[in-house]
Amino acid sequence: MGHEVVVVGSVNADLVVSVDRRPAPGETVLGSDLATYPGGKGANQAVAAARLGGRVGILARIGDDGHGELLRSALEEAGVDLAHLLVSGGPSGVALITVGPDGDNSIIVSPGANARLEPGDVPAEALAGAAVVSFQLEIPLPTVEAAARAAAEGGARVVLNLSPAAAVPDEVLALCDPLVVNEHEAAFLLGHDGAPGVPEAMARDLLDRGPRSVVITLGAQGALVADSSGVHEVPSPKVEAVDTTGAGDAFTAALCLRLARGDALADAARFAARVGAAAVRKPGAQSSYPSVGEDLPAL
Ligand code: ATP
Repeated sequence: MGHEVVVVGSVNADLVVSVDRRPAPGETVLGSDLATYPGGKGANQAVAAARLGGRVGILARIGDDGHGELLRSALEEAGVDLAHLLVSGGPSGVALITVGPDGDNSIIVSPGANARLEPGDVPAEALAGAAVVSFQLEIPLPTVEAAARAAAEGGARVVLNLSPAAAVPDEVLALCDPLVVNEHEAAFLLGHDGAPGVPEAMARDLLDRGPRSVVITLGAQGALVADSSGVHEVPSPKVEAVDTTGAGDAFTAALCLRLARGDALADAARFAARVGAAAVRKPGAQSSYPSVGEDLPAL
């Protein structure tokens, strides 16, 4: 049987140090012990969908270093199919994260092997039979373009999470069903000057840019879903938020899985909001994702 979801995306090691304050240029400060976690938007989404019981594959590149081993085993443990996990000479992708006293993150991403995932690395058979193929933007844009086209030609539903925000060609936007963005990514794509607009209006304006459907995630406020039938609000369960890291990835993964199983977009988004809310109740990204059978917060 084919995959329900194939994720074409990034795999990073998250290296996290807590600091009282960040160093000024030329200064050194002492921080906490280093913590190393598996991350990267592609891997997070693949792990989240597999934990929910999905048949999930990943198409990605890791390096031939120690981080690569950690990243591979995290994907393997979650049950993600690694037949198309490629290994490059050189470093794996890394996110260097400092956490300040208020829990605020500053992040530098060194793409490493992710930057070497090329259009030629995406064979049609890796996408064949997938119900949904999902993308984020931590890998080269030409790879996203080529793979999205191949996925659509192969009959898969294309989901693009425009994160981190970057300009994508209209031709790629037209394949998205849905395009998934948070408010900031929506504002970026619409050319608003930094400040997000009214979400409903942004959802309509984004739909006018050509995607078949749009989802805007709104943190604790839930999400908006827009397609030819109009704009619909999706509430989020009320939970005590401990750490919102990776909530967007959990949401997108759950959305993709439910779409692959035939849910209507609004129903898939209602489920995704519950999975996103579950992910903010625990620290970390992958470590916070719920497993199949686990109680999800109710709407
Ligand atoms: P991140 O970049 O931190 O992963 P994001 O900005 O892409 O997140 P959000 O809109 O913050 O995405 O969150 C995604 C979804 O997770 C929301 O639509 C919502 O359903 C759920 N969620 C996020 N934060 C909360 C919260 N504080 N309480 C309940 N649900 C939440």
